[in-house]
Amino acid sequence: MPKRRARTSQTAASRNPVGYEPPEGSWSSSAANRKTMQANRSRDTRPELAVRSAVFAMGLRYRVGTRPVRAVPRSADLVFTRARVAVFLDGCFWHGCPEHFHLPATNTDYWGPKIAANAARDGETDRLLAAEGWLVLRFWEHTLAVEAATEIRGAVRARLAGLHRPAGPS
Ligand SMILES: [Zn+2]
Repeated sequence: MPKRRARTSQTAASRNPVGYEPPEGSWSSSAANRKTMQANRSRDTRPELAVRSAVFAMGLRYRVGTRPVRAVPRSADLVFTRARVAVFLDGCFWHGCPEHFHLPATNTDYWGPKIAANAARDGETDRLLAAEGWLVLRFWEHTLAVEAATEIRGAVRARLAGLHRPAGPS
């Protein structure tokens, strides 16, 4: 997960720990994705490419891996500036997916707190961005790309529609 911010070091982040297998059918478990990851390890190698291209194919445009709010040092995976929607695509291991995260058998003392800290940081990121008026969407790595993309499209459209709604007493 190369462009993933300072939370994890580049080397640690680009490899899954021993014993971890991506869930069946996940972005990173498909041969095509693995091939992409091998071919382009340095940047944009993440399996989130599947979601990005599905969203792009729906005609939506977004920024990739940038800060939704300049003053908040957190980068989202997809950023819809006008709609103020920030999308995070969370790896099942790194973010502690309740369905797929299993603590590695070795270095338990390291991984337990590490993953817990990641999850806590995610929650903090959500609060910081919400406070700035952003809608935050998170998807697990195991979510089908088209399902994530459909939900993203719905949220972006709803937010944009809201922008054009005449202001009035509510
Ligand atoms: Zn999962």
